[in-house]
Amino acid sequence: MTLDARLARVRARIAAAEAAAGRPAGSVRLLLATKTQDAAAVRAALQADAAASATTAGTAHRVLLGENRVQELVAKAPELTDLAPELHLIGPLQSNKINAALRWATCVQSVDTLELAERLDRRCAAIDRTLDVMVQVNVSGESTKGGVAPEDAIELARAVRALDRLRLTGVMTIGANSPDSALVRAGFARLRSVAAELGTVELSMGMSRDLEAAVAEGATIVRVGTAVFGARA
Ligand SMILES: *Cc1c(COP(=O)(O)O)cnc(C)c1O
Repeated sequence: MTLDARLARVRARIAAAEAAAGRPAGSVRLLLATKTQDAAAVRAALQADAAASATTAGTAHRVLLGENRVQELVAKAPELTDLAPELHLIGPLQSNKINAALRWATCVQSVDTLELAERLDRRCAAIDRTLDVMVQVNVSGESTKGGVAPEDAIELARAVRALDRLRLTGVMTIGANSPDSALVRAGFARLRSVAAELGTVELSMGMSRDLEAAVAEGATIVRVGTAVFGARA
């Protein structure tokens, strides 16, 4: 399948999931998870998406890009500036990489400790800017995943919100790695209830394998890699 066809298929899945959930068309944004893809592949995807959006008026949405690793962000972002993509960091952020991340990222979705939030806030103050952030919540409890425990998410999010330079836009999670779709969906429902308690807008959840369940539970951003780019090498 070509990139165009894979992208169209993902767009169609999102549209079908929106319709099935009784949500307006275009209420879910697509974030391309670009880990391991080089700048040329990302460029091709952005251009294919722009071309497709131009012909399907009404559902057109600028696509977001998400990088897991700051090294990849720093390597690719300078090659994509002409396309002015909105870049989010969706993976772990070590304090020695904060400056590099802030060069390119408009949002850090993976804030899961107060220490990281405070470091980001201090750095933003030093360079006189603000930063959108999301609190990453580990709804599955899987130890391989980042994120704060659901029972601690509200407290962390409130502390983040109190920081001057950070703007808490929502919450993010990686769904359970399980064939049990009810379990996966319950995790997304848990994130939705966290967001409702906080009164935040963005719910970043759902990937190639589980975006339908995420949209059903209110995702506003789905993060898709393999379904668009093909299997990672
Ligand atoms: C890789 C990744 C995705 C996308 O996963 P796919 O299965 O390739 O769609 C989404 N979110 C995060 C945090 C990721 O690391």
